[in-house]
Amino acid sequence: MGTSYRSLQHVEARTRFDLLQVISYDVTLDLASDEATFGSLTRILFDSQGGETFLDLKPAGVNSLRLNGTELDHDTLQAGRVPLSTVAGRNEVVVDAVMAFRNDGEGLHQHVDPADGRRYVYGMSFMDAAPSIFACFDQPDLKAPYTFHVTAPADWTVIGNAPGAQVEAGVWEFEPTPPLSTYFVTLVAGPYHLIHDEHDGIPLGLSARQSIARDLDADADELLTMTKACFDEYHRLFGTRYPFGNYHQAFVPEFNAGAMENPGCVTFRDPLVFSSRVTRGMRIQRATTVAHEMAHQWFGNITTPKWWDDLWLNESFAEYMGNRVTADVTEYGDAWTHAAYARRQWGLVADQAPSTHPVAGNGAVDARAALQDFDGISYAKGSSVLKQLNARLGDEVFFAGVIDHFDSHWFGNATMSDLFGAWERAGAQHLADFTDSWLRTAGPDTIVLDRDAGTIRRTPPPGNPADRSHTFGVTTISASGWETSPVTVVGEETPYRTEAPAVVLDAYEDTWAATLLDPATVQSLKTLLPTVSDARVRAGAWNGLRSSFHQVAVAPSDVLDLVEAAMPHEDNDDAVNYTLPWAIASGVELGPDPAAGAARIHRTMLSRAGSAPAGSTLQLAAFQSAVATAADESRLREWLAGGLPEGLELDLDLRWALLVRLAVLGSSDPDELDRALASEPTARSRVEHSRAMASLPTAEAKEWAWRRFTGDEDVANYELEAAGRGMWRAGQEKVTEPFAQRYLDALPDLPLTHAGWVLGTAVKAFFPSTCLDPALVASARQLAGSGTLDPTVHRNLLDLVDSLERRIAVREAFDPR
Ligand SMILES: [Zn+2]
Repeated sequence: MGTSYRSLQHVEARTRFDLLQVISYDVTLDLASDEATFGSLTRILFDSQGGETFLDLKPAGVNSLRLNGTELDHDTLQAGRVPLSTVAGRNEVVVDAVMAFRNDGEGLHQHVDPADGRRYVYGMSFMDAAPSIFACFDQPDLKAPYTFHVTAPADWTVIGNAPGAQVEAGVWEFEPTPPLSTYFVTLVAGPYHLIHDEHDGIPLGLSARQSIARDLDADADELLTMTKACFDEYHRLFGTRYPFGNYHQAFVPEFNAGAMENPGCVTFRDPLVFSSRVTRGMRIQRATTVAHEMAHQWFGNITTPKWWDDLWLNESFAEYMGNRVTADVTEYGDAWTHAAYARRQWGLVADQAPSTHPVAGNGAVDARAALQDFDGISYAKGSSVLKQLNARLGDEVFFAGVIDHFDSHWFGNATMSDLFGAWERAGAQHLADFTDSWLRTAGPDTIVLDRDAGTIRRTPPPGNPADRSHTFGVTTISASGWETSPVTVVGEETPYRTEAPAVVLDAYEDTWAATLLDPATVQSLKTLLPTVSDARVRAGAWNGLRSSFHQVAVAPSDVLDLVEAAMPHEDNDDAVNYTLPWAIASGVELGPDPAAGAARIHRTMLSRAGSAPAGSTLQLAAFQSAVATAADESRLREWLAGGLPEGLELDLDLRWALLVRLAVLGSSDPDELDRALASEPTARSRVEHSRAMASLPTAEAKEWAWRRFTGDEDVANYELEAAGRGMWRAGQEKVTEPFAQRYLDALPDLPLTHAGWVLGTAVKAFFPSTCLDPALVASARQLAGSGTLDPTVHRNLLDLVDSLERRIAVREAFDPR
């Protein structure tokens, strides 16, 4: 990067909205000229009240800038903006620019597939990257139709938001789109493998790189079947048809997010095309992502938030609808159980972090700051709050309001108060109370049973004392079984007495709160958890344990005891998949004897892999955990040579999991890892190779990873993240210790090396998470207070320090050394 761009301020967006009305975009891209840059010719027609404004443009070079026929001085382009003196009435701006392909998942991202040398590109305009593809007025409420013309190498396919066709070799013409916001304009281009289908008049498509074509073919039925079922359900619930023509789902390389909802052409991260065997939970995750992006065609694409402070109108709804519709109409009826394991703690931890914010009205002053609000609060907490609202209003009122909202703002923009107005017209009452309790205040209440006092105690979050009441199920568990009955918690203490040895609060997630396990329950669950056959209650118990641990109320040894007691009987692979990595980071790494803790987990999970049905995904999940805790090199070598338990196969994922573990133990070396990459040089291998290289316990390996962080070695986003995640390993503190201070020293200038989404990724992935040193916490806080940090770096650093402090507190509380 190196160029710093000004991020659009909310107040600037309002002024420009009042001044302009955009009539149309006509964009011509030349992707065939060379492999570093592409030509971008944009013609924008717009009406103005007359006066000064600016155009957004982030080019590598400019050939021509013309406003109403007059060439502008190119030097006026500063920090990504071209000042424009508009006339009252119709204006035309024409920009002929050269843009750089990027490798950080934004703008036009370019990827050369190491498996076969083929080149692929895709567009990611979100959230302020559109001006690095074409000149534009980059804000969500200046919508306009787009017409694209693309020149590409002759063997490429080009897919856009609107239907298009190749009119001569390498020349593609697209129909005009309905009015679109800049942030979801896209283009997918390259020698992609394509699959076509149709449903209810909607042409459907799937695509992926040629080197994973077979894997896409293998899953095409599953993907298309769920897409069709979801369309039927959304048409039923929303009462309005999908209006964007084609629905193409493109699996693209090195995509930062899970997916992006571009109308007509959704882009997904392509590790979601499974090249190795995966757990059932991974398939549920993919299904909910498919359903989530489809919900966005309505919540986001038909009706778009006016500004990023209402991004929850996109994400909370898409998350809620995605879970609900997946559970209701696909083969994954247990999608809510999956969400309990995969998403609940993401939201709760974010809501307890220093950067917590209300679901609604996050206060985003500029687009860059808003990017950091695409977090567990906007997704998981927002979804939970909407589930509550739906329970209050009932489907009839809930969807009547939603349909009214789409009708009133069709292909337009809207705010939270527009939606709440629609719900009131539909008959909803007392929405203000609900909004104040759940949408306008930050932080979760903490709720815990106090057996001695005979109460359920509610503690509001510090600084945000909203007076919330909670109605949820209390599940009491004893040797004779378990039952759930409702309780309403009002005020700080609610009388509640029980003789049940174990009590799980809110297992079915009827409210939003950090519901802890009381100390007696933690002990009783060691015998009783395995007796509970309801997967939701077990998920609720693990969430209670994790919330308690996060608040330093459970010892690492209790975590290990529970894993040892429950996992031999667990049959849900999500429970294994999501609980074990946490249990290793908490119970093992913070316990008094990490090696002994890892050995306990290893024995338990290897034994579960042995007792699970051969070939089951449960066996796979258990075995993955056993590999991650293995200490016996010869055993790992035996597996790597193919001597796996019956039912498991040595596919690419498992091979690299074994190599990464050998690397962590210091039982591999760069030569072996390079040979493994050369023997199967796929995109996936390259990422895992990075992880393994960075995991070696040598100073050279850590320097190898570090050069990626500092940008001395320029690598694409996935490899960067893997290098960071591999670098900090418990037990390697002697080698990594010098990098803790180097990390802090590098932060002020980090935005010169990494930008946008990847800046946040780099700050998180390279954070010295294993350095349990109060002195590091003090230095980091001092740096955060110095005023020298970029807002994205600052916010992530404070959250990371908070989680490190909690880990240090656990160590001090339960194992004072
Ligand atoms: Zn989304």
